[in-house]
Parts: sequence; structure tokens; C-alpha cells
Amino acid sequence: MKIKLIRSFSAAHKLPHYDGPCHDLHGHTWKTVFVIEGPVQKDGMVCDFKVIKKLLDENLPDHQFLNDLVDNPTAENLAQYLFDKISARLAAKNLTLCSLEVWESDNAAAIVER
Ligand SMILES: [Zn+2]
Repeated sequence: MKIKLIRSFSAAHKLPHYDGPCHDLHGHTWKTVFVIEGPVQKDGMVCDFKVIKKLLDENLPDHQFLNDLVDNPTAENLAQYLFDKISARLAAKNLTLCSLEVWESDNAAAIVER
């Protein structure tokens, strides 16, 4: 069974190799969409949404400078970084991260699939 969670966070970045407005320091409210797979447990849940939300929020870089975490933090590079980091956290709970969407704006996202 798959479950889907949407979380958001605010963080700044700048893109040193980009010829355009994203070259300079600025922020986004990033939206992330997680699809997580695991067996339905005896309680009828893959995992309590509250537990997953807490795990995700603890691992999202809210109010951080993304260049400190990811080299050239485009939406694509940020998505890969978050996918790798959060996949490992979920694996410890026997859950699989199937896909992660990182939305930089209302109409542009990068997607990593397992
Ligand atoms: Zn930007």
C-alpha cells in the first residue's frame, strides 16, 4: 500500500551557475510530495500519518541556507539530496520512499523516483 504526504518548508538558495534571477540569494516556500510504500499493519495503517509527518519535518531544511547542504541547489539537486536522506530514515522503519516531488513554485517541480 502506498501513502502520500505533502509537507512544505521555507529556505533560501542561490544558483552560482545560473544566468538569471535565481543567481542571487532569494527564498522559496518549497512544497514536497512524498509517496511511501509499506505493508498495512494490524492497526490498519502503513504508518501513523502523525509519525511520518514528524519524521519528514525533522529532516526538511526549514529556514536553512540550502547552499550549505547541497552543491548548486537547484530543485533537481535538492530533490536528490532529500530523497537519499529521507529514504534512509524511512528504511529504518521498513518503509520505502517511492517518489519525491520538490516544487519550487506552483508550476515547477523536480521528481525523483526509486
Ligand atoms: Zn530559486
